[in-house]
Amino acid sequence: MNDIETWNIAKSKALYGIENWGAGYFDVNSSGHVTVAPDGINGPKVDLYELINSVIERDISPPVLLRFNGILRHRVRTLYAAFQNAIKEHNYNGSYMPAFPIKVNQQKPVVDVLRQAGKEFSMGLEVGSKPELIAVLAIHDNPDALLICNGYKDSEYIELALISKKVGRQPILVIEKLSELATIIEVSQRLNIAPDIGFRLKLSGKGAGRWERSGGERAKFGLSIGEILSAINTLRSESLLDSVKMLHFHAGSQLTSIDSLKKALKEAGQVYVQLRQHCENLSFIDVGGGLGVDYDGSKTSFESSMNYTMEEYARDVVWILDDICDNGKVPHPNIVTECGRALAAYHSVLVFNVLGKANTFFHECNPEEVLKTSEESSVRNLAQLLLDLSPKNCQETLHDAMQLRNDMLSQFNLGFMSIEDRAWGDACYWALLRSISEKAQKLFYLPEDLERLPSLLTDTYFCNLSVFQSLPDVWAIHQIFPITPINRLKEEPNRPVVIADITCDSDGKIDRFADLRDVKRYLPAHDLRPGEPYYFAAFLVGAYQEILGDMHNLLGDTNAVHIEVDEDGTIKFTNVVYGDSVGEVLRFVQYDRSKLIEHWRNALERAVIKGSITPVESAEIFKKYVQAFDGYTYLE
Ligand code: PLP
Repeated sequence: MNDIETWNIAKSKALYGIENWGAGYFDVNSSGHVTVAPDGINGPKVDLYELINSVIERDISPPVLLRFNGILRHRVRTLYAAFQNAIKEHNYNGSYMPAFPIKVNQQKPVVDVLRQAGKEFSMGLEVGSKPELIAVLAIHDNPDALLICNGYKDSEYIELALISKKVGRQPILVIEKLSELATIIEVSQRLNIAPDIGFRLKLSGKGAGRWERSGGERAKFGLSIGEILSAINTLRSESLLDSVKMLHFHAGSQLTSIDSLKKALKEAGQVYVQLRQHCENLSFIDVGGGLGVDYDGSKTSFESSMNYTMEEYARDVVWILDDICDNGKVPHPNIVTECGRALAAYHSVLVFNVLGKANTFFHECNPEEVLKTSEESSVRNLAQLLLDLSPKNCQETLHDAMQLRNDMLSQFNLGFMSIEDRAWGDACYWALLRSISEKAQKLFYLPEDLERLPSLLTDTYFCNLSVFQSLPDVWAIHQIFPITPINRLKEEPNRPVVIADITCDSDGKIDRFADLRDVKRYLPAHDLRPGEPYYFAAFLVGAYQEILGDMHNLLGDTNAVHIEVDEDGTIKFTNVVYGDSVGEVLRFVQYDRSKLIEHWRNALERAVIKGSITPVESAEIFKKYVQAFDGYTYLE
């Protein structure tokens, strides 16, 4: 029931869990619109619904990715402050140097904002491949910040990194595979540039969460303790022991449990202390990435959540290293983190419009009419149940209805029931489920089988997006992203929905949503009103999604808008990155625009000769076809 009187904004906020996962960046205003506060809870707030309308006014169509630069800056400041506070608390003698792993979001405007925000904190960049190195070499111009070179390396990679020392960069070549050492020695001797070396440690313990296999002895990357000792012997024999500057480990992305981080730190801390006996210049410990994001807001060790805070993470890193190094009587190392997800996830919001809906379970049903017309006992009994339904007999009625529906289907499949009776029976059954679901909401205690009912009665809302392009982790690893309508939050959302995208793939759907307990199998949404656009936003999508996205059905990159919000709330669109055009995605799969146009013109000419279209029609059709190359790949 649409209940504007008794429903309110607080109920919407609680229903969608905005305070649980929003980290203070997202809220709902008195107009019932979602707001974004790029500078955190005390900063100016932007009305997301008004914002998307002004984006559309500028002829930038949804789906649109909104990137809030202020959130990126706020994340950098918050992470740095968490470590500074922990360092003060523990009288830790080393310094803290964050580094952003660009694999998380390589978009140049994003990296630029992070670089600027991190300048005062000597924030470094981490690269994991040659193309990433080439991008970063040119732009990473902070002489106080590290350039951490991870990933597999050939001699070209190593050469480029070493030469960059002459240009004022601070590359640390982190050895991922023992065989890289010989290449590093060879290239550094040839160029006569001393390398700064890090060892990536293969931990014995696994992380926790989806990426737990990034750690542990069978991990793809890193050196075992034996390999590290062998590398030390080689470096000693080459008089290069002084080059060892860093011990590195990465326990896995999205660490859901703080225990796994503590275990990893204890092991890596011991290795650091003992390596320090051999390598005098060893002064950095890089604890990798992994700081989680609480996507579902449950604050648990569930895959889409985390059971700790950023502050707890920082305190544990500092405290454990402090303790181990004091006991081992070695100076406190400088701490480097490669937190990517925790810095980038919050800043991007994907807004997409609903195109229409399908509701299989919503047929007109008049039980009195059915009782007058049908002679089938299962159908008549279903109609009678509908008439007798009350809040007191909800659960029993549900059980009876399911039994009757099974009876009805058996009769129909055996050829003993007419198609009309089947249609009446179906209508009664779904009407019963809808009524039971509505009545059950008013019960003090909701038994499990009644609680599941909305997920059986969902409408499908067809939305202008490709899950594969914009939210690939939803499809690939069942990642939960918080999703809400961005307006009408003063009204009770009265329809349980699942979201279907515009690809022709049945996997192109979202039917798992954030919940404090487990996963919700439907999203509460509002009835669509004719002629009135309805938008959803997917939040926390700034990490990994853009670069992992693919072009299924040739749906390309979405439009993206970078947004700056001044202290007085003034909004500026600093950068508009138009999504792929049809011509661009076709070129990507080797279709030549001019050849396609020529083929199309020939086909039209043949149709004119056959008389199926006139020459004037042919000219119009031709023009439309050519224009479509410059259009958006999504529905406009
Ligand atoms: N560092 C390394 C070596 C990684 O492999 C990754 C990602 O898996 C990261 C940093 C970033 O991790 P996250 O985004 O979880 O912080």
